[in-house]
Amino acid sequence: MKKLRCATLLVAGLVAATTLRAADAELNVYSARHYQTDQRFYDDFTKQTGIRINLIEGSDSALMERLSSEGANSPADVLILVDAARLWKAEEAGLFQPVKSDVLADRIPEHLRSIDDGEGSKWFGVSRRARIIVYNPDKVDGDKVRNYADLADPALKGMVCTRTGTHPYMLSLIGAMVEHMGAEQAEKWAAGVVANFARSPRGGDTDQIKATATGECGVALANSYYLARLMRSSKDVDREIAGKVTAVWPDQGGNGTHMNITGIGVLKHAPHREAAVRFIEYLTSEQAQRFLAEGNNEWPAVESVKIDNPALEALGDFKPDPLPIGRIGKAQLEAARIVDRVGWR
Ligand code: FE
Repeated sequence: MKKLRCATLLVAGLVAATTLRAADAELNVYSARHYQTDQRFYDDFTKQTGIRINLIEGSDSALMERLSSEGANSPADVLILVDAARLWKAEEAGLFQPVKSDVLADRIPEHLRSIDDGEGSKWFGVSRRARIIVYNPDKVDGDKVRNYADLADPALKGMVCTRTGTHPYMLSLIGAMVEHMGAEQAEKWAAGVVANFARSPRGGDTDQIKATATGECGVALANSYYLARLMRSSKDVDREIAGKVTAVWPDQGGNGTHMNITGIGVLKHAPHREAAVRFIEYLTSEQAQRFLAEGNNEWPAVESVKIDNPALEALGDFKPDPLPIGRIGKAQLEAARIVDRVGWR
């Protein structure tokens, strides 16, 4: 009799597990972050949970267009985007649903999550990058380029290079300036930077670093991982470029260096909500945090996770700006107006 009951319970348990698996045995991920190394955490998640991942990669704008045309019929469960400006845009477009999770609240610092209005957060930062200054010591005195504000100093006329101001990385930095100094001062600063251009903005962050190394630019802005990537490259030419520029952690005596994130949110019409939350929680694990950070020379979002990255270590410790990423994202509307008015393109 006892044996029989055990068998019945076992069968009931199996049925329950099968039901859960049928519902949540897969997870559909849309990602605008496409580093080959990301495959490591997708595979590890599947190994640990049995949940298969179907991955669709694309540009942020292509994925957001796809999501809005799919509407309520979208098979997508989560969306991964890089940069506060893009995350905020997706949030504003109503693509995400709020998530309340003790694990996420515990692991991810509040300033790296979307602003929680009591319902939960709509996206969560899972890795961090810094927007740094790089300069050519043959062309520019390092003491003159310690802060973002310095880039507007007339002493740097004909020296400054950046990518276009309409790019999310620039909109986020300008948005942070708006939050810190107000729109009026931020616009004055932006106009000063534009007046100092060595050339009209073109190319990505790596192009700015290269042009600084050759001396076409004296000083430039770039995300930290682009420099770290050059420093760790297997190509001599890349390491030579990195060796010709000096990196600065801006604003160490003030607000700290502007930070941004890779973020992820559960989509409003996610067919596998439970698996989606489980995936984001997994991304905050020690192992996944390392995969996320190491794959792109970033820092973990979870503060207790330590990484071993010789390039980042060589750049030294710094004070990051703790400004909430959600506020930076929101300020992009003002930032875009400023970019337009000062002609940062
Ligand atoms: Fe990038």
